[in-house]
Amino acid sequence: MTEQPTRDEAREEIEHLREEIEHHNYRYYVLDAPVVSDREYDRLMRRIEELEGLFPDLVTPESPTQKVGAPPREELGTVRHSIPMLSLQNALTADDLVEFDGRVKRLLEIEDFRYVAEPKIDGLAVEIVYHDGIYVQGSTRGDGYLGENITENLRTVRSLPLKLRREGNKIPSLLEVRGEVYMAKKDFARLNRKREEEGEPLFANPRNAAAGSVRQLDPSVTASRNLDIFLYALGQVEGASFETHWEVLQCLQTWGLRVNPEIKMCESVSAAADFHERLETRRKQLDYEIDGVVLKVNSLALQQTLGQISRSPRWAIAYKFEPEQATTVIRDIRIQVGRTGALTPVATMEPVHIGGVEVKSATLHNQDEIDRKDVRIGDTVVVERAGDVIPEVVAVVKEKRTGKEKKFTIPDRCPICGSGVYRDPEEAVSRCTNMSCPAIVKRSIRHFASKAAMDIDGLGTKIVDQLVDTGLVGTVADIYRLTKADLMELERLGEKSSDNLLKAIEKSKQTTLARLIYALGIRHVGEHVARVLAEEYRSTEEMEKADPEELTAIREIGTGVAESIRTFFREQRNRDVIGDLMGLGMEYSRPEAAAGGKLAGKVFVFTGALTGFTRNEAKRLVEGLGGRVVAGVSGKVDYVVAGEDAGSKLDQAGKLGVETIDEKEFKDITSS
Ligand code: NAD
Repeated sequence: MTEQPTRDEAREEIEHLREEIEHHNYRYYVLDAPVVSDREYDRLMRRIEELEGLFPDLVTPESPTQKVGAPPREELGTVRHSIPMLSLQNALTADDLVEFDGRVKRLLEIEDFRYVAEPKIDGLAVEIVYHDGIYVQGSTRGDGYLGENITENLRTVRSLPLKLRREGNKIPSLLEVRGEVYMAKKDFARLNRKREEEGEPLFANPRNAAAGSVRQLDPSVTASRNLDIFLYALGQVEGASFETHWEVLQCLQTWGLRVNPEIKMCESVSAAADFHERLETRRKQLDYEIDGVVLKVNSLALQQTLGQISRSPRWAIAYKFEPEQATTVIRDIRIQVGRTGALTPVATMEPVHIGGVEVKSATLHNQDEIDRKDVRIGDTVVVERAGDVIPEVVAVVKEKRTGKEKKFTIPDRCPICGSGVYRDPEEAVSRCTNMSCPAIVKRSIRHFASKAAMDIDGLGTKIVDQLVDTGLVGTVADIYRLTKADLMELERLGEKSSDNLLKAIEKSKQTTLARLIYALGIRHVGEHVARVLAEEYRSTEEMEKADPEELTAIREIGTGVAESIRTFFREQRNRDVIGDLMGLGMEYSRPEAAAGGKLAGKVFVFTGALTGFTRNEAKRLVEGLGGRVVAGVSGKVDYVVAGEDAGSKLDQAGKLGVETIDEKEFKDITSS
């Protein structure tokens, strides 16, 4: 917009932008699954800053320009940062950088100072705490004030010392140090390859993969992801003092903390701009993703003088790299049905070169994105490729419209199998819910047979493709109907390998409930959630009957997961497949209850605080007597044990007529 907006126009646009930015923040910080490029997000932020600059009275504390990140996920537990972890101001162009330098000089009223330039690592900001050189805590940045407690997860990052090196500089009694956890490009590629094989959703880029990996409830998952860390700043420190940022970085190294080797002292802003230019050309050669250069005033005293504005310090700036863009024309929009049944609109375009790569198609993400950008078939569009991210359409060049462009709407039936499409309200993604859809059946079979699921050795991609293409297998249950004659028909499968495959299939019939739940490929139900569900329910039938309140009462299960479990079981075809599996001899074991205990078969729920036991002690007591403890109140529960300040579970018990007992009564029935 070239004309200055009126106050009312600005207010309206700001409201609209805030909503949009909030949505992107949620996708990026909470779900680790953004739907727009960083550059586009930065543009939205720029615009809102510009409008708020014109009308400062429209700034409210809730504005995204005043906030950092997103509130922490409560499941992980929270940690309060003693010094807030802020964001950074952005420079998108060389002019922005010069303007920053001018501002700093004006505020300091001196010209003679230095900057330290560092690569801007595209990962997740974390804070690590050492007491007398011993690692005690790790947390995410969260909303800058409250972060998520990821102490156990960070312990598994091999490049992070659990004990600081004692030679050299004296170890401070308290050291809070900040840095970026990231995933190397090769580890990212390896992880996505594995996820693809197992039919898991892919991560869009290494940053999301690192953030998703470090914010796991199960530290063993983080451990399997090969994360790394670079440290670049201090929080609170007791027992050491420094004069410059450069000195801090050198000292961190002597303590065994990993500092990026590219860091450079710059005498002037133009030296920093040169550093930015050189690093941008070398960007592809580095084995980790960077998205710009961070420039920091070197003197800590001058940093102090400059201070901070609401969400970022005045003494630093992130000078981002140019995304790679080009303009082309959309010939058509097709629907791709992905491994999880997601219907993704993909634009087929006139081929165009972006950063040395020919791009012919770009994702349009979902209907909301198509509508928001008003993308039509025949439109001239700007396409962007940033790092490893899938190319995307960032804007329509509306001036080029001829009137012949056609609007596009995602069909409400799956284009492959005609089944109904379910739209996840949280994700704005439409999905085919039919587990037998040929487009997803190959993926679901590979997932079903994968190591962590049914572990059917020998049922690899090529064989699965042939089985589905020849019509021998239409659902995962069909695997158990295969005969030797069927297998011998397949290309490159001799007698011996057919026998081996049949044996592996037979062996997989003896499994565990957790493996089976995971193997079904229910959206959002990974290995860990499957284990949680298997502890909570005795069978898939029980899970099928669970209502949303009951599911979400389980600690690790949020509304999104609960909804996708319900959607899965609502589909008759999915229920049939499970029935078929059982009919074909599948058997699963569950954790055994203590045989013949006095509470055998009884199901307990705890609510409120117990005084005489911890929750774990009470749980072990019940289990030792043959009973079971679940999280959610439902008709299958025998007793709700109400401690102090019992919550909504008590009301739920009342409604369902489940017997409620207090701690004393609980003691009575568990004592012999
Ligand atoms: P930021 O990423 O622009 O800059 C601040 C962060 O840089 C720090 O918190 C730290 O994590 C990181 N950093 C990396 N190397 C560093 C170094 N050497 N020194 C200091 N810090 C370093 O800001 P942000 O607040 O983390 O996030 C905002 C940015 O995230 C946006 O500009 C955008 O690029 C991206 N974002 C994208 C979406 C989306 O939907 N695509 C949504 C939200 C945010």
